[in-house]
Amino acid sequence: MTEGRTGWLFEEPHKPCNGTEEGLAARVAFPVRPRGLFGYLVPEALRDEICRGLPVRVPLGKSGHIRIGYCVDLCSPIEIGKKLKSIQGLASSVPSLPEDLIRLGSWMVDYYVCDWAEVLQAIVPGVIREGPKSRGRPIARLSEVGRRLVEEAQRPPDISPTQWRILEHLSRLGPTLVRTLTRSVGCSTVPITTLRKRGLIIVEKGELLFPSKSHDVSEALPVPQLTAEQAAAFHVINQSLTAGSHQVILVHGITGSGKTELYLRAAAEIVSRGFQVIYLVPEISLTPQIVERLRARFHRVAILHSHLSQRERRRAWQEVRRGEISVVLGARSAVFAPTPKLGLIIIDEEHEWSFKQEAAPRYHAREVAIARAQIAGIPVILGSATPSLETLVAAKKGIYRMVELRKRVHGRPLPQVDIIDLRDPTHRRSSRSIITAPLYQAIHDTLNDGGQVLLLHNRRGFAAAVLCPLCGFVMRCPECDIALTYHRTAQAATCHYCAHEQAIPTSCPQCQGQGFHFLGFGTQRLESELQKRFPKVSVARMDADAMRPRGTYEKTLKAFQHGDVQVLVGTQLIAKGLDFPNVALVGVVYADLAIHFPDFRAGERTFQLLTQVAGRTGRGDRPGKVLIQTYCPSHPVILAASKHAYEEFAARELDIRARYGYPPFSSAVRFVVRAKKLEPARMTAERIAEVIKEAFPSQLHKYRLLGPAPCFLHRLHGRHRFHLLILADNWQLRRQMVKHVEAAVRPPQGVVVVHDIDPIDML
Ligand code: ADP
Ligand code: ZN
Repeated sequence: MTEGRTGWLFEEPHKPCNGTEEGLAARVAFPVRPRGLFGYLVPEALRDEICRGLPVRVPLGKSGHIRIGYCVDLCSPIEIGKKLKSIQGLASSVPSLPEDLIRLGSWMVDYYVCDWAEVLQAIVPGVIREGPKSRGRPIARLSEVGRRLVEEAQRPPDISPTQWRILEHLSRLGPTLVRTLTRSVGCSTVPITTLRKRGLIIVEKGELLFPSKSHDVSEALPVPQLTAEQAAAFHVINQSLTAGSHQVILVHGITGSGKTELYLRAAAEIVSRGFQVIYLVPEISLTPQIVERLRARFHRVAILHSHLSQRERRRAWQEVRRGEISVVLGARSAVFAPTPKLGLIIIDEEHEWSFKQEAAPRYHAREVAIARAQIAGIPVILGSATPSLETLVAAKKGIYRMVELRKRVHGRPLPQVDIIDLRDPTHRRSSRSIITAPLYQAIHDTLNDGGQVLLLHNRRGFAAAVLCPLCGFVMRCPECDIALTYHRTAQAATCHYCAHEQAIPTSCPQCQGQGFHFLGFGTQRLESELQKRFPKVSVARMDADAMRPRGTYEKTLKAFQHGDVQVLVGTQLIAKGLDFPNVALVGVVYADLAIHFPDFRAGERTFQLLTQVAGRTGRGDRPGKVLIQTYCPSHPVILAASKHAYEEFAARELDIRARYGYPPFSSAVRFVVRAKKLEPARMTAERIAEVIKEAFPSQLHKYRLLGPAPCFLHRLHGRHRFHLLILADNWQLRRQMVKHVEAAVRPPQGVVVVHDIDPIDML
């Protein structure tokens, strides 16, 4: 078995105990609350059935209140050592979890230094966890005792013939609505109640899942013949698929090189062998085309997007659980899809930051996918045009296998990229204009030529700040101390961090002066400038504000696809995945927007974004062109992006990371301390640093501690924030440190400390 970057926790795949002379105990975890693991005795009657992943009903605490939890491990009662209460029974209203997910949960508890409750919340969707609400109707099904009785096929004398018919019915047809049962058997509810009281059947409120219609394979798109380069890559991938063991394969291919085609082939291969595939994308709504392509090739596809209703979500989960689905497509949480026979996990655009969950347990879907695949002994395919440096290093070390696609399908060239220096005054029409003369000309020419234009500007709203020119007053968020963004559609100033919104005052609150200035540019301003300068052209905007009404995204994309919209303006939403052959020009309005952020990944992020958006052009017969406006035309990251030089970018970036010991050359954890009052927050942050330095002195050369310091967003949602970054030699040391801090630092009332393993967000 390969040792991944995240290490292997279970040297020997850990086999649960199956009972000792002292009996058998289960460790039970609860979704949501309480935290921790609780030991219970497994009663004799459940000995045969109990296994990891099974939901059980157990008494909790002094009150002995019955709660539903999951059995996550089995052991001898001696190991737990306390006097144990017994499991009351199975909780069959809640579906069980496949064993590999439980083992994955153990890995998460260890790696992310988090609690089982947090892990179960991530693994089991809320709708499943809570079960159907009051809407449920009484459903009857056999208990274990009842099942055994029916299997004996002989009606005992104390069971009436009607009762027997009920048992037989349930045995044959499974859980049935009580109403249906009385009708089919032709009885009242009395015998049902009797059976329930005798423990032969269980009646619980719930919802029966009807098998949903299998969709027809949508209009079959022709399966293209692989190009020579694709075929060579697929040959390598196929070796790993056939090996029947764990392996991570990185498909590093430029935009439009046909990576998706490879994923589809690999998925088809696995599905044809009777296994299931999990296919992760950063965000489904951003990749509408993949849905079509999957539907065209596979019969049973589950699409787990965020617009599903509770009912749809529950149904999809159950179908996946029963193994009725061959391909599960979803964003990061789909990595926990309860597939019974998982054969492959695919992660497209593996470098995307949205794979990281920013709430506890703060997992990264890529790392979790690799851990799950290790547990299940199956391959993982990671794909990207700009692999994360973490992935690149693992590939270079030979931990991952790498295949490369260096050419676009049909030999189309990558677009030419030109840089426009925003410092050059001859380029700007006025300080109020954001479109320079060369960009204007290019848009003009492209449209004349019948081509379409994408304009990327990664800041929404109209103006970045509202300023009083007389006294210098700037509108700020009272909760976050961040300049408010002016939104013209809402006629209000909005905080982009907490969504606080307020009207623009008629006069300056500081000097009573009249007339604010709106500084800086957002997508709304860009859209309005375009409309003014190209009055006859249809312009659409795509950003989080414009996309709020449901379905707008699809509508806008359709309009663009059909040519009803000629210019599409947007934030990073337009940078990803779109495949429109008629896009002949991509303009990046302000490339260095994020390059100076106090974050060691700022360069990586900028490079990825520029490469992604440049890849949206030149995909059809038209050659593509990209214009990048920037104040830093000689910045190495921007230069590398303009040359499509990933290797050059990566070499330089890795050099910097190695020099400072940043990931991927260390295992990072970030502590964030926040509190309403500044002093307690600061003191707690300092205490964390102290505690670490005290406890790990001899390890000095094994880690670096940066901070504590105020966060870049030093005030957010009304809380003061401080952070520390620890760069440890390995993840085991990092885990020790986090555990030590948790044990040794008791934050005072009102102070919250969180730790973020492999942090992405540094602000
Ligand atoms: P990537 O995922 O690398 O951006 P895609 O797989 O989406 O690339 O391929 C880009 C375009 O080329 C798509 O429209 C796809 O249908 C098409 N394509 C991919 N492979 C082939 C092939 N072997 N022959 C013809 N067209 C292909
Ligand atoms: Zn705010």
